[in-house]
Amino acid sequence: MVVQRGNENMVSESEAQQAISTILEYIEPGQSNREGLVDTPSRVVNSWKEIFSGYDEDPAEVLSSTFNAEDYDGIVLLRDIEFHSTCEHHLQPFTGRAHIAYIPIERIVGISKLARIVDLHARRLQNQERITKGIADDLEQHLNPLGAAVIIEASHGCMKCRGVKKQNSIMTTSAMRGVFFDKNEARTELMQLIQSPPL
Ligand SMILES: [Zn+2]
Repeated sequence: MVVQRGNENMVSESEAQQAISTILEYIEPGQSNREGLVDTPSRVVNSWKEIFSGYDEDPAEVLSSTFNAEDYDGIVLLRDIEFHSTCEHHLQPFTGRAHIAYIPIERIVGISKLARIVDLHARRLQNQERITKGIADDLEQHLNPLGAAVIIEASHGCMKCRGVKKQNSIMTTSAMRGVFFDKNEARTELMQLIQSPPL
């Protein structure tokens, strides 16, 4: 889904900045004119253009640049793709790494596109489960592979700074499709590749 901007009912950039000013006034009453805060509303809204840029990207377009696989029929794995996302429940950051794999049938995709598809999902208001499923759905739909696998490990700000305050917990999610779902051998080979020592 690509969000269509510019519709007259949408909140404008200046209205968003005004909302941030209101929040700052709520946190620290009567201080919105001090030096450190005066430009904060515009800085925050500007930073969101990057942090939430995933809404402007279309997975069909990202995954459209494919090449002849020349009979390659093994696993293609891009591992340790770092990402930054925002938890939709608390507006806290969560960061981690994604491992993405597929087994091509006839077409392989440009490797950087696998990293871009992670960012497309991560740079939205999210939960980790939806990112994981969304990437797997896109790989299945647009690459039509023999199998697709997504494993994500992330550390959540909302677990660290509030609530249970656990600093070191890592959440892992996975989506296995096609042969990675059906066949133990494919999953085992994938896990060995993910866990092999770094270069
Ligand atoms: Zn949260």
